[in-house]
Amino acid sequence: MTPSVHANPPHDALRDTLQGIDNAAQSAGRPVPRLLAVSKTQPAAAVARLAAALRERQPDRIPAFGENYVQEAAAKQAELASGTDVAAIEWHLIGHLQSNKAREAATLFDWVQTVDRAKLVDALARHRPAGREPLNLLIQVNIDDESGKHGCRPDAIAALAAAIAGHANLRLRGLMAIPAPAPEPAVRRQAFADMHRCFRALREAHPRVDTLSMGMSDDYPLAIAEGATMVRIGTALFGRRS
Ligand SMILES: *Cc1c(COP(=O)(O)O)cnc(C)c1O
Repeated sequence: MTPSVHANPPHDALRDTLQGIDNAAQSAGRPVPRLLAVSKTQPAAAVARLAAALRERQPDRIPAFGENYVQEAAAKQAELASGTDVAAIEWHLIGHLQSNKAREAATLFDWVQTVDRAKLVDALARHRPAGREPLNLLIQVNIDDESGKHGCRPDAIAALAAAIAGHANLRLRGLMAIPAPAPEPAVRRQAFADMHRCFRALREAHPRVDTLSMGMSDDYPLAIAEGATMVRIGTALFGRRS
């Protein structure tokens, strides 16, 4: 007899996380955001396990996983391809993308959340394989205007959005941010609120935009309170990365 999956610690972490997301949405009076499971440094087997648990809990959704590095994602996908899981997972790139990796990224991923310059838009459009669904893109915003950080300035969003909208094989979905870790919740919350303001402005010009990706393990309730439609969670699901 196979043991009940609910006896497994990863399933408890998933249950607690989904409950935490539900609670945060409910107390803020917001729609429940999508969960992106961040699987960087986790082996393919852990992705397969969590994907199965997600399918069990949310049968009408495709499990979404986020990876930071193109090479790591390629290896993991190759390993999963020997099973059946790879096609049934929606893959998101959430790490910085160098232009010389654009071809591989445009092939391996369904979403790229880290578009922050026009050159990358053109490279992704050029390399998205013909016959595939349009590549979903989020514009990464450096909302705290930290020097040396990736992401575009808020005043560059409109031009980048227009560049993306000019390509039939790219689909502009919204915005993503990784606010600076601030000890005081009020400061973090302000960054999330600023992102939501950018998101509303973007939607004025591009009404089909539907995704505001922000919030991680230690701050997702604040992000949800300020209107996140997707939270990116690693540690709370998989445990601390070694
Ligand atoms: C690692 C990472 C996450 C997940 O962070 P946790 O604190 O482990 O939940 C989310 N977004 C990005 C861009 C990351 O690099």
